[in-house]
Amino acid sequence: MKRNRNVKIVATLGPSSSDADMIRALYTAGADVFRLNMSHGDHSEIRARHEIIRQIEKEVNAPIGILADLQGPKLRLGVFAGGSEEIEAGQAFRLDLDATPGDATRVQLPHKEIFDALEPGAHLLVNDGKIRLKVRDCGRDFADCEVEVGGTISNRKGVNVPDVVLPLAALSEKDRRDLDFVMELGVDWVALSFVQRPADVEEARAIVKGRAKVLSKIEKPAAVNSFDDILAVSDGIMVARGDLGVELPVHAVPPIQKRLVRKCRAAAKPVIVATQMLESMIESPMPTRAEVSDVAAAIYEGADAIMLSAESAAGAYPVQAVTTMNNVAAEVERDPTYLQIMAASRSAKRATVADGVVSAAREIAEATNVLAICCFSESGTTALLTARERPQVPIIAMTTVPLTARALCLTWGVYPVMTGDLDRFKTAVVYAVRASRTILGAQAEDNIIVVAGVPFNTPGSTNILRVAPCEEKLIFRQEPG
Ligand code: PGA
Ligand code: MN
Repeated sequence: MKRNRNVKIVATLGPSSSDADMIRALYTAGADVFRLNMSHGDHSEIRARHEIIRQIEKEVNAPIGILADLQGPKLRLGVFAGGSEEIEAGQAFRLDLDATPGDATRVQLPHKEIFDALEPGAHLLVNDGKIRLKVRDCGRDFADCEVEVGGTISNRKGVNVPDVVLPLAALSEKDRRDLDFVMELGVDWVALSFVQRPADVEEARAIVKGRAKVLSKIEKPAAVNSFDDILAVSDGIMVARGDLGVELPVHAVPPIQKRLVRKCRAAAKPVIVATQMLESMIESPMPTRAEVSDVAAAIYEGADAIMLSAESAAGAYPVQAVTTMNNVAAEVERDPTYLQIMAASRSAKRATVADGVVSAAREIAEATNVLAICCFSESGTTALLTARERPQVPIIAMTTVPLTARALCLTWGVYPVMTGDLDRFKTAVVYAVRASRTILGAQAEDNIIVVAGVPFNTPGSTNILRVAPCEEKLIFRQEPG
């Protein structure tokens, strides 16, 4: 489906968006990738949503990306005898391993590893950072804390420990079960929550074994600190501003977002900006001005994708939220300032032949009247390099590999399409003409650019560029097979 923008939209599915009509409406409104959140919903619900998306994919005859987001080593409190308690700043509060229901003086924190890593002075943040505890004294099975910011503390609330690298496995037991399940379903992206180090990503990769792309969620200070090494072993990144803004002061998040987005573009890997983008639309059909500015800012920074969480999963206005993102994106991308920013932030390094070819394609598209840049890309590399150029015409990525096509749904400006096998470059041109006619409505007099690497099936071997007209005779005379 032809979109009127290049940045991609990721919509999280949930109770507000689990039937086929709603998911189809979200796709039509602009959702390019659907996120299945493994923290909520049981396997049968997740499976049903997955099947609906694949069904819609058949109806619309275009790849749709599916991202399964693993919960990760999420820490939670135990329970209270009365369900909840009020605690006040200045008072003492103890966390321990005792499963006895808690009271106003103590509660269980059923994670032994945390006590091993804690040190006096470290902070524990409860319930999205609303409650702050500072460790005064700790041992193998307890931490005596002082309440710095108090409030209501209740059953199984989430706990963040920003100050220490936790000796936690990257994948919990639940994550491993969920990962096996989504691999069997056949998702395109797996997102890893609370990544702390590159080894966490490698561990997941060893299980995924190339069956999906692996995306690291950056939501801990430790991940920000070793970002370059994490990026190197990841296929994509999410700036997970929700937990990042709990683990770090909220004002630390915007500069980190900017830096991460730039680094991802330089590495030609897709980056999602996520969380609270249109938060008020959970309850209101209209966003706030500040939210619209935030969405626009992420696009001006060069993000590949922007994401809806509760807005589409549990809100009252899922379709309106997607439409809002779509409209903001279309407006920003029409702005000459946006085009200037994209050009000015383009990496000047042209280290390989592939870089040179895609850069030439972008320059030709700027200087002349071509309709699209079409690239043949089995691994997706050529498409990613083309997208990094941020050309002003759509990118059509042709591939025979379903995972490549679906995963590219997350990448800025790319329309992935499945084609048959390629033997010669001429065949790539035929496929490109056909895709340009179907997706973009190209006519005989329109020109397109075709790039590919010969011999085929060698990632990063991009070495041919041709400008071709979209003539019908080209399709029929050289119809392959
Ligand atoms: P979550 O991740 O929605 O899974 O918590 C995103 C974030 O923390 O921003
Ligand atoms: Mn998170």
